[in-house]
Amino acid sequence: MANLILKNLYKIYPDNVTAVKDLSLEIKDKEFLVLVGPSGCGKTTTLRMIAGLEEISSGEIYIEDRLVNDVAPKERDIAMVFQNYALYPHLTVYDNIAFGLKLRKIPKDEIKKNVQEVARILALEDLLDRKPKELSGGQKQRVALGRAMVRKPKVFLMDEPLSNLDAQLRTQMRIEIAKLHKNLETTFVYVTHDQTEAMTMGTRIVVMKDGLIQQIDNPQRIYDRPVNRFVAGFIGSPKMNFLEALIIEQNGRIFAKVADSLLLVSIARGQELKDKGYLGKEVILGIRAEHLYGKGDLLARHPECILSGRLEFTELRGSETYQYVKIAEIEVVVRVDSELQVETGQKVKVGFNMSKIHFFDKESGVNIA
Ligand code: ATP
Repeated sequence: MANLILKNLYKIYPDNVTAVKDLSLEIKDKEFLVLVGPSGCGKTTTLRMIAGLEEISSGEIYIEDRLVNDVAPKERDIAMVFQNYALYPHLTVYDNIAFGLKLRKIPKDEIKKNVQEVARILALEDLLDRKPKELSGGQKQRVALGRAMVRKPKVFLMDEPLSNLDAQLRTQMRIEIAKLHKNLETTFVYVTHDQTEAMTMGTRIVVMKDGLIQQIDNPQRIYDRPVNRFVAGFIGSPKMNFLEALIIEQNGRIFAKVADSLLLVSIARGQELKDKGYLGKEVILGIRAEHLYGKGDLLARHPECILSGRLEFTELRGSETYQYVKIAEIEVVVRVDSELQVETGQKVKVGFNMSKIHFFDKESGVNIA
């Protein structure tokens, strides 16, 4: 059991930089929790406070119901894996992995058994005699993981462990770390600025901005129900499209008016907008590229959900293509089947799947319907 509780954490650096503001979070046993957000949002600081490497300005941290505010890092039963691997260059892979165990004066035989076990899991068996400089980036990262694993910690903390690897290796290591989590059945807290990593690895995601938690949820819910415009724009690739829209009522029906065209809003959503006082007001309409369509049945069947634009350029991605379409002065990205070929510069119609649309308050950015 290794649950972790963060209560009202603050970190204020000298010069009054508030890196983490009133952060409360319960990390469950065996969970893979990802802290994600743009550079400077406070995720590394949060992780370092959990590790005991950074002093807490105020608040409390509990590991397994034990207050650890004043417990030294090495007494916290956690292991941290860093972006730059932090391997000892003069030691072999074997000695790097064994280092922590030797410090703890574990008998030699036991160390050997443990190192070999870890090396087997991480496919490092043939590399045990090499020095770090003789390893590839991915191999170094596996050694860093091995060094953490061999201590059998209650909690693994990882700070952007894959950011020094090339794209292909990153994808591979992503899968390996996710598998490792499954096999080890240990709590993982993982920091990244890469939303793809967060979405594919985390059982729960914490999205942060400016030291504040924006949303905590599982990946699917974060994607489908972002609480505000920031989360909606940060999670998902390509980025969610945002358009300004005026909410109006005509003949008893609610429409979102975008660049002089009307999009029919469903009765329920329309009522919600009306109840919240948005009639006659501008809001931000958000829709993902896969919920816009370029051609086909839906376009023919739903003339009330179509805007016209001009195709600016296309990006072939294999089976799908991103079409960048300018509607009035706003560019939206539409994800279409690659078989749908349209020449750039042509006028195109863009259909909106209105059941997948989000409305955000223009000032606060809060998701309103
Ligand atoms: P990145 O992805 O760039 O590492 P992050 O989300 O991990 O960013 P932090 O490193 O936690 O962000 O930094 C949060 C804020 O605290 C930033 O504004 C940063 O400049 C500031 N900060 C971090 N470390 C210190 C420090 N030692 N002294 C003063 N300010 C700091």
